[in-house]
Amino acid sequence: MEEERRTYIVRYGEVALKGENKPYFERLLMERMRKLLKKYEGVEVRKESGLVFIRTPLDLPQEAVTKEMGRVFGIDSISPAIELPSDMDVICEAAAEYMLEQLKLRGFRTFKVEAKRSDKSFPVTSPEIGRIVGASVLKACKVLRVDVHHPDVLLYVHVRQGKSFLFESKLSGQGGLPLGVNGRGLVLLSGGIDSPVAAFLMAKRGMMIEAVHFNSYPYTSERAWEKIQALARILARYTGRVRITSVNMLPIQEEINERCPEELMTLLLRRFMLRVAEAVAQDRGCQMLITGESLGQVASQTADALVVTDQTVQMPVMRPLIGMDKMEIVALAEKIGTFETSIQPYEDCCTVFLPKHPSTRPRLARVLEAEACLDAEAMVAAVLAEKEVVTVFPEDE
Ligand code: ATP
Ligand code: MG
Repeated sequence: MEEERRTYIVRYGEVALKGENKPYFERLLMERMRKLLKKYEGVEVRKESGLVFIRTPLDLPQEAVTKEMGRVFGIDSISPAIELPSDMDVICEAAAEYMLEQLKLRGFRTFKVEAKRSDKSFPVTSPEIGRIVGASVLKACKVLRVDVHHPDVLLYVHVRQGKSFLFESKLSGQGGLPLGVNGRGLVLLSGGIDSPVAAFLMAKRGMMIEAVHFNSYPYTSERAWEKIQALARILARYTGRVRITSVNMLPIQEEINERCPEELMTLLLRRFMLRVAEAVAQDRGCQMLITGESLGQVASQTADALVVTDQTVQMPVMRPLIGMDKMEIVALAEKIGTFETSIQPYEDCCTVFLPKHPSTRPRLARVLEAEACLDAEAMVAAVLAEKEVVTVFPEDE
């Protein structure tokens, strides 16, 4: 059986996609898939009753497709498959040929055929398909035995309307929901481990991502800024291009440093970060702010500190890492690919004018009192007037 194209079966979150929004979700999912596969010639992405099929020219390596699709939110799993007409003789012959080929390549002992018939008008039932195809494989590969409990190779046969598919593996995808189905958020992107992971998790639920970064130039360097862009390029593999607004917070830090109690420095700076971020988000049509905060991780992330920071802006602040341990966050950062870049040691704006004893139990009344001498609105407007905007594009490993 000569196949002219490679076929991939893509399964997506059936359960989450029930209801009226389903066609919209499916459209965004396929748009995203097509976008990532656009760089290859002759690739087709089509939906056929509850599954998406990718068909590519033979010379496009499987790894290229699975790597790109491994970055698409909304895909549950993907299987490279052999596409056949729904004809028992053809299926049997193809299964035998495939297993013989694999046997030569990999040398296993046992197998099992798992059959599924979605086309109920097909005259052979699923268990019978399994038996008949299994017998045909046994006949072709005399050394093989069937093992229904722990087979070395599990061969799936899926009979659909007019077409059938043979496949072996189900490679798991990212899961989540297609990008764009859940609005737009602005992540406060520092150079640390946490914030890229926070952005990733929100994007995984379908949120489009933009970023704001705070620098303290000349205390922070050009290299630190390059690191931020490098992180955003890795994030962009999953989220698509990321627009980063970089804002120099030094004028604000100097003013707080001059006029407010030292132990509140970090907290007041964080309140200003949120104010600036909210202004950027409003300007860019983002509905939410996203930070990499995790409960109790540092002085500014104690329950009291979070309460005081939260009282700064109207916009909801999403903290998807709030209940995660550092180890869990690091594991995710490694999986996403941001970890190595995050741990490069560059200075961060938070480390400028760092208080010796940051307040871990701030009270809102006291913070408001300390801030009273500042014209927050004017300070925010002044730093935003000097903002720099850069759009970064996905960078491959
Ligand atoms: P991260 O690993 O993300 O740097 P962190 O544990 O170092 O987090 P903080 O420095 O207190 O924690 O920052 C908490 C959150 O505030 C960050 O996750 C990020 O969302 C935001 N943030 C901190 N510094 C900056 C910055 N320079 N630019 C933009 N956002 C920042
Ligand atoms: Mg940080």
